[in-house]
Amino acid sequence: MGLGLFTYMLFQGSYRLEREDAAAVIKDIHQEALLPLLEPLYGQEYPSTHAFLSAYDALFQPYNEALKQEERWDEVIWDDYHFALSRSAASGGAVEAPLRWLTLTVGLMVLGGLLYILPLYRGEPAGIKHTGIFFSSMKNRGVLGILTGTYLISFYVILYWFPAYLNQAVFMVDPISKAISGNPASQWFLYGFLYTLIILVMGIRMFRKYRHSRYHLLRTASLMFFQLGFAFLLPEILVLLNQPWYDFKNIWPLDYSFFYTYRIEDMLASGGFGLFMLVWGILLIIIAVPIFTYFYGKRWYCSWVCGCGGLAETAGDPYRQLSDKSLKAWQVERYLVHGVLVFAVGMTFVTLANYFSSFALLGYATDQLHTAYGFLIGSAFAGVIGTGFYPFMGNRVWCRFGCPLAAYLGLVQRFKSRFRITTNGGQCISCGNCSTYCEMGIDVRWYAQRGQNIVRSSCVGCGVCASVCPRGVLKLENGAEAGRIQEELPIIIGNDSIKIKQ
Ligand code: SF4
Ligand code: SF4
Repeated sequence: MGLGLFTYMLFQGSYRLEREDAAAVIKDIHQEALLPLLEPLYGQEYPSTHAFLSAYDALFQPYNEALKQEERWDEVIWDDYHFALSRSAASGGAVEAPLRWLTLTVGLMVLGGLLYILPLYRGEPAGIKHTGIFFSSMKNRGVLGILTGTYLISFYVILYWFPAYLNQAVFMVDPISKAISGNPASQWFLYGFLYTLIILVMGIRMFRKYRHSRYHLLRTASLMFFQLGFAFLLPEILVLLNQPWYDFKNIWPLDYSFFYTYRIEDMLASGGFGLFMLVWGILLIIIAVPIFTYFYGKRWYCSWVCGCGGLAETAGDPYRQLSDKSLKAWQVERYLVHGVLVFAVGMTFVTLANYFSSFALLGYATDQLHTAYGFLIGSAFAGVIGTGFYPFMGNRVWCRFGCPLAAYLGLVQRFKSRFRITTNGGQCISCGNCSTYCEMGIDVRWYAQRGQNIVRSSCVGCGVCASVCPRGVLKLENGAEAGRIQEELPIIIGNDSIKIKQ
């Protein structure tokens, strides 16, 4: 019901733009051109977002296209006013009763989620039980899974490219945004709010499901804490204090805009605290990542701190068995994830070179690189595919195939780290539970059968392989570096007559 009402709410309300409303949101430099252009809209009643935006486009697009045709580049309007104008013209629905709609939509969803989750594991043994998961329509690409994936993909497409269609939902969280930061909500506040709430509710599910494992309880609590405190509340509080919005745990190159000129200038313009943010971000990249990954493997970030990992480990947990374990997928993964890292490093290098040469090096080509990266990687890959594809390709599609920070952490983990998963091969009964539930598509059993240490750059150290093993074969360890990487060992069957090369 909550989800149904949420979807219905997006089509609620009507739109009526007045000249003074338009003047309040249009930048000074565009007012002279736009305010008279939009004259036919003023005072008109439009029954839906679509009707209002279509009327706006009918006036704006021909005007702007004509400027482009005539190559009057200084007059072309690059700013997108769809969201701001529709927001200032909206009425009805969540505009008038935001908290009522918040309760009826998100409140009902949370209540429904908890009512479903809390009794779910009562009387059942804790942990993953291999009971008919591949017969589940939701968890094995059945109709429910396809519908869920389609809904998620549609939501992300609207969020990134047509946010004006979300404005009724944005109004709903306005009171919360104003209470935290003093500002009206944007689509990003709505997204952050829902994202955090989903991690919290599904985190409770993790507490119930993995109640036998202190490792899972602790890392889930850590993910919930970092999402709520560092990714959601703290950046908004910083805005309230007139500081730049900043997520202290988001590390470049995952935070790909960290070295963009506007971000650097924002931080430098914010005095000592802004400078601290800049230095903190750089220290995370060059000190924290190598040192923590050396001692603990990439799990310290991917399974304990990261927001993308947070969603994957909580909301994505029911889909972890859908990751592709084939050799082909591993080959694609290696090219893709390291390709994105190279792209991010190259783009940042050019950005910084431009910054220090006062835009003499490549000029506007940098902007085009930023646009391409933002569209392809930041929005399409990380959002639409990364989360929308949970029900199709498992919960770590982004972390495995696209995250440039995961690639950087992975290189350290593979070549200079104390982390490994040790395997007690003699105990393995080749049931394959470990491989089935590895969200990163690692064929864990292949190593377990040989008694060989697992040292893989992609392993996020979630520990689920160890938890699902019925024989206690696997153990996540941070030990001495020597002997960590072993040559490929043969499978031992029954006796010790085979000489094992160590
Ligand atoms: S190998 Fe084990 S710990 Fe590593 S990602 Fe796969 S399931 Fe998680
Ligand atoms: S390591 Fe454990 S879970 Fe994996 S195949 Fe062997 S017995 Fe099964």
